[in-house]
Amino acid sequence: MLFETLIIGVGIGLLIATLFLASFMLMNIKIERAVEGWVLVQAILVFVMLGFGIILIYLLGYPIIPLVTLETITAFTLLLSTFLIVSLYIVLWIVFRQLFGLRISDKNAIIKFLRFAKLPNKAGGIIIKKKFQASCDKCKNKVNYTIADVVRSHPDIKRGIYIEHGLGEINYNFYVRHQCEREIREIPVQHDAKLEYRNQKPSRLVIRI
Ligand SMILES: [Zn+2]
Repeated sequence: MLFETLIIGVGIGLLIATLFLASFMLMNIKIERAVEGWVLVQAILVFVMLGFGIILIYLLGYPIIPLVTLETITAFTLLLSTFLIVSLYIVLWIVFRQLFGLRISDKNAIIKFLRFAKLPNKAGGIIIKKKFQASCDKCKNKVNYTIADVVRSHPDIKRGIYIEHGLGEINYNFYVRHQCEREIREIPVQHDAKLEYRNQKPSRLVIRI
């Protein structure tokens, strides 16, 4: 039993280390929905740790929960470990999508934009060709972008494009993603009703890499 006890002990140690490391990593992440996901992963991790802890106590010769065998506890802990892997996978998928965006063509991105903005399909041909430029207030570099780029970098289009209707005119706010040294930043750029560049606001941090 000594060998098994040792293995479980090392496992618990690693899980505790992961929990602290994950909490530390969370402080730098501002990705929508990912933070809630991480919290869920951590909660499951605590239960997995608890399961391993009980197994360890059983292995040391103290069956602390009467009527429940070591096999049952082990089976539950393995099931929880599976939940842990699945939830971790989902969170990573959300993070990757948010960070790297969607891999869709200019045409499909523009179709998505037209639907979202409730614009006629014939507008697509003009929009697809338009190239714009903003400047990053942090690294001072010029950032080239198209509307398709903005759509691609925001899987949830509502978070990348905000349409303002006011006093008979429409403003389009695009959140242009830009890799800025060791950060990914977003530059809020405003376009007029004809989708021409109007002005930009100070950029904001999305994530430090
Ligand atoms: Zn920059």
